[in-house]
Amino acid sequence: MCGVVGYIGEQQAEEILLDGLSKLEYRGYDSAGVSIFDGQELQIRKKKGRLTRLAAVLEAQPLSGSAGIGHTRWATHGAPSDSNAHPHANKAGDIALVHNGIIENHERIREWLGTRGYSFRSQTDTEVIVHLVDFFYRGDLLEAVRLASHRLEGSYALIVMSSHNPEELVVARKDSPLVIGAGEGEHIIASDIPAVLKYTKDVYFLEDGEFARVTRDSVDIVDRYGLPVFRDLFHVDWEMDAAEKGGYPHFMLKEINEEPRALKDTFNTRLTDSGLLDLDMEGLTKEYLADIRRILIVACGTAYHAGVAGKYLFEEILGIPVEVDVASEFRYRRPPMDEHDLFVTISQSGETADTLAAVRLAKRKGTKVLAITNVVGSTLSRMADMVFYTLAGPEIA
Ligand code: GLU
Repeated sequence: MCGVVGYIGEQQAEEILLDGLSKLEYRGYDSAGVSIFDGQELQIRKKKGRLTRLAAVLEAQPLSGSAGIGHTRWATHGAPSDSNAHPHANKAGDIALVHNGIIENHERIREWLGTRGYSFRSQTDTEVIVHLVDFFYRGDLLEAVRLASHRLEGSYALIVMSSHNPEELVVARKDSPLVIGAGEGEHIIASDIPAVLKYTKDVYFLEDGEFARVTRDSVDIVDRYGLPVFRDLFHVDWEMDAAEKGGYPHFMLKEINEEPRALKDTFNTRLTDSGLLDLDMEGLTKEYLADIRRILIVACGTAYHAGVAGKYLFEEILGIPVEVDVASEFRYRRPPMDEHDLFVTISQSGETADTLAAVRLAKRKGTKVLAITNVVGSTLSRMADMVFYTLAGPEIA
């Protein structure tokens, strides 16, 4: 996990990128970097260590320009170091990108690029992407990113820029989160909503397999075939201070203390006037409920542990057997499931890749999926048959 951020507009990009990265630092913090177009070329500053170290470098050698990209890294391939930090650039230095995710077939691509004369400056899986984009670049950056993506296996949220057309940023997404915040004459791109909230509450969500060309005043989204996609703006109704610590010394303490309220809020929107839980409204009819023989709870990390606690409650109250699985294991076996099971899943972000893969499996078997998630509009919320929103504001800890 890591954070990517991009800015294109009229303001100085440096400050906005650093601010965005500070909101995303919880996602990764072994190194950080930015690239900004200074009017002539793409300048890159990157540094191993916490964001403050990058900030110190930028203070000593500031960058001026109103288009740029930034990254806070949590290394998966290649140790934390200055050279492995993002952004990564092609040899000519006219294309740079930041990446969140993992390119599973990077070794094969690296070999292939080697036979085409490309050499590498880092040990990251990410660097193969920028050389692939370079390989396909014929003057249209989005087209080059789209063609390059067809060679990639794995997950990515990418923000790419080129000094040949500094008036645009190109983004791509597969199995890693990405939002595009739409401001007045500016766009702010980030891994997570809190990083754009200071500038705008109107965002576009990219779907898996989509690409966007983002300029100051426009966002053009296309699918993997390059065909235009129409997307409505989504209005975020969190307040900015929900993303701050609200008087607590740590985000973790704040979020623990918010649990009782979040639990109430989750149910409140589903209560009838007489105070009963209206499950019908979510597509859980009495007939369907009466027919459930087993409940499967599948999730990752903390959400999995919530599921384990849930098993005790469900079995005691309902008398229905409950199985709890870690989503990353579940997807690698062939669990028998059918329309008499209820598949319950929990994911704060609604973007947990293993959880989404398990949901796809359940849906293929005709099992109804009930999701508990915090993020309205997330991939999980769109895939599930029924959704309970925790409405807990942005999660940091
Ligand atoms: N796989 C990339 C790397 O190791 C990106 C990791 C991340 O998402 O932070 O550099």
